[in-house]
Amino acid sequence: MDKARMLDIEKAASNILKNNEIVKPFVNVFQIARDAGLSIEYRKMPQGDKDVSGFLDSSTGTIYVNVENSIARRTFTIAHELGHFFLKHQPDEYGLLRRNNTYTGIKEQKEKEADYFAANLLMPEEMIKNEIRLYPFLQSSPELLASKFGVSTVAMEYRLLNLNLLSR
Ligand SMILES: [Zn+2]
Repeated sequence: MDKARMLDIEKAASNILKNNEIVKPFVNVFQIARDAGLSIEYRKMPQGDKDVSGFLDSSTGTIYVNVENSIARRTFTIAHELGHFFLKHQPDEYGLLRRNNTYTGIKEQKEKEADYFAANLLMPEEMIKNEIRLYPFLQSSPELLASKFGVSTVAMEYRLLNLNLLSR
């Protein structure tokens, strides 16, 4: 992903936060989805499709979420699908934009973009920096920071690494 595209995605996420007047964690992606006119449905994913975390059906404006995933993962899935929605990605031949658990081969560009959008929406740089300013001990505890933002520890560690904020 080139720098210009990254900036576009960062801007898209921060505009949504601004419009929803969200200034501190956690970021309520469930509310953002509803405000965007999307509905959220929790489903067991069909047999053989158990690796699917969720998908966006753009024809009906529905985000389907794998009910068997953890709450942190479901939250990230919704943020990821919101990425497809707000970045106006074209769906696949079935009219869907899926999020898979397993990483097979090279991730498609739009999947990377949706992940980057999700990270920026759920863990905005300024919001993380502000939390660390207020509670300096959080920088050495990605677990606590993650729970404040309603994300998994792995997702938070990855984000901190990308922002050069991981203290070791
Ligand atoms: Zn996706």
